[in-house]
Formats: sequence, C-alpha cells, structure tokens
Amino acid sequence: MKPKIWLSSPHMSGAEQTYIKEAFDTNWVAPLGPNVNGFEKDLESYLKENRHVAALASGTSALHLSLILLGVTNGDEVICQSKTFSASANPIVYQGATPIFIDSEAETWNICPIQLEIAIKDRITKGKKPKAIIAVHLYGMPYKVDEIHSIAEKYEIPVIEDSAESLGSHYKGQNCGTFGDLSILSFNGNKIITTSGGGALVTRSEENKNKAVFLATQARDNAPHYQHTHIGYNYRMSNIVAGIGRGQMTILDSHVANRRSNHELYYNTFKSIEQITFLQEPNGHFSNRWLSCILLDSFETREGLRLALENENIESRPLWKPMHQQPVFKDAPNYLNGVSDDLFNRGLCLPSGSNLSKEELDRVISAINTYFAAC
Ligand SMILES: *Cc1c(COP(=O)(O)O)cnc(C)c1O
Repeated sequence: MKPKIWLSSPHMSGAEQTYIKEAFDTNWVAPLGPNVNGFEKDLESYLKENRHVAALASGTSALHLSLILLGVTNGDEVICQSKTFSASANPIVYQGATPIFIDSEAETWNICPIQLEIAIKDRITKGKKPKAIIAVHLYGMPYKVDEIHSIAEKYEIPVIEDSAESLGSHYKGQNCGTFGDLSILSFNGNKIITTSGGGALVTRSEENKNKAVFLATQARDNAPHYQHTHIGYNYRMSNIVAGIGRGQMTILDSHVANRRSNHELYYNTFKSIEQITFLQEPNGHFSNRWLSCILLDSFETREGLRLALENENIESRPLWKPMHQQPVFKDAPNYLNGVSDDLFNRGLCLPSGSNLSKEELDRVISAINTYFAAC
C-alpha cells in the first residue's frame, strides 16, 4: 500500500521547539506566561486594524465566549451560516439559544445576503430579533463582507466572524479576522497554522479582551481568596501550546503561498476536464485556499472520484454537510435556497497541505486523471 496522503496535516517551521524549550527552562508550564503574551502580540501585528487578541483553548471556546460577551442567553435566537463545521453552531446551544440557519450564495459558498435579510425580517415578525449573526469564511474564501455587514448594521445585529479557516485571507486588503464585532481563529491540527489545539478571540476593544480572559480563567474576582461573582470557564491557552503558535507565525505567509499554489496547480491541471469546476476569487476576495475544493458534475461522479482516491490511499472529503441537514439540528428554523445542498452533493476537498511534496501532488493528479480517463 502506498503511503497515505492526508487532506491537511500539521507543518512545523522548526522554530516551535525554541519557544517550548524556553517555556520549560523558565518553568512557565501554565495557562499563562511569555509565549501566551508573545503569541497574542504576533497575531495582533499580523492582523493589524488595532485589534486585541485573547489566546484560548480552541476556536470553539472563542465562539462560546463571543456569545457570552454579546449577552446571548436562554431562549435567544442566533443566526448562523448553515454550510460550516458544527463548531460554528454548537456554542449557540451551549447558551440555551436557538440557531437559525441560513443558506449560502454560489460565489463564495458563504452566508447568502438575500436569505439573511429574509430571515431577519421573518424572525422579527415572529417576535424575536436575532441576537447575533455568525458568518464564516469557508475554506478560506472571504464571505461577502460589505453585503453581510451592511445588513447587520441596518438591523443593528452584531456579527461574530468565524475566521477559523481563513487566517491569511483578506477582503479588499483588510485581513479576515478583523471584520466582526468579535472574531475567532482556530489553530486545531489541520488548520493553516496549528498549535496542536487552540484558538483565539479577536476584539475591537481592550475591555472585551479583558472580559474574555477573565471568563476564560474561571472568572476570579480581584481578591486574595478565590471569590466569584460570575460563572467562569477554563478556556485559556497554555504557555506550551502558545510556544508552538509563535513558531508557526514565522511561516504563516509561506503556508498561505503553498496552499494557494496547490490550488493553482489543480486548477491548471483540471480546468479542461468538463466535469470539474472551481470556485474563483470574486473581485476583492483573497483566499488562503486552506482547502482546495472542486465541484463535480454530479453526486455520482463525486462519490466515484472520492472512492477512486481512497483506493490509492489518498484522503479527500465531501464539502461540509450543511447544519440544516444534521440530525442534531433538525428542529432548528432555516432559510434555504438549495445552494448548500447542491455544494454538499457535488463538492470534494482535495489534499491541500502546505507540506505536500511534488511526488504526493503528482500521485493525486495522476489518480484523478486516471479516474476521468476511465469515465
Ligand atoms: C475548526 C473550526 C472551528 C472550531 O475550531 P476548534 O479550534 O477546532 O475548536 C470553528 N469553525 C470553523 C468553521 C472551523 O473550521
């Protein structure tokens, strides 16, 4: 059996171990310390726009704290892009609130402005104005930022920007991760940079960052004994993990360049195969191409190709199954136009790691060519 080719695997720079060793040497083996502060500073200088960053245990915990900071509570409704990973939606339920799922548009595969406005009006008519909008830059492709944020402003609903897959992407020159009232990042194992597991909350005010850190460290009041006036969480990033993050920041831009070049290679190789189409970058959208995705002409071609790759020990994956199709969310209200169902039926993510070798890419390409030659 040929060695496995993964969809997206960790890619270290070598600098990580220096920071980790420093943490051990100085005995900062705790959920605080110089690497945590250093990683936050690195992210703040990368993102620009004077944002504040709180390093946390995961992207999911950052989403959870975002909802808490916005006052989302039992019985509230929160709008969420349906085509996403379940982590975007789960924290809504942690808060006892109801997710309202919105379909995608076909140009970026992200939250559809038309369905969004229909949903807001309908929810208001039914008696509840949504407390927040969770919008996602899926696979690194920025959502329609101007359209979505102008609707959010019109109805005065804050946006939580789920930028878990889009560090290194930008829209009209501004970095993804800086558009939301609150924004989140993820450094899980298969993301564009990884700390093994981890995430961050990006805030516009220092006050919100401080509140998030307070809640993430068990909400301890300022007292010599342990005293609490709020429910707290254990959501802070550890100083060891943050050391990996500091090392990863040194090669983020080259990871983006590698992933974009994978996508370009697939595009140039397969653009003449009529059963395959690609998602192009609309004007002003710059994607980190976290995952290279293709659309096939039918569900059957998609499944056939996926299994042909699996036979060659090459991992590929259908696009995210929309949340409105998930058994766990079957009772949640939704506003649909058919786009995300179609993407789910025909879409496939190809191996996309920044560390894929030329030989590995050649194996993927030849497996795909062989499949279509036999079709
Ligand atoms: C990975 C991911 C998350 C969750 O991040 P974790 O760090 O794994 O908790 C949230 N949203 C999206 C879109 C993701 O891809």
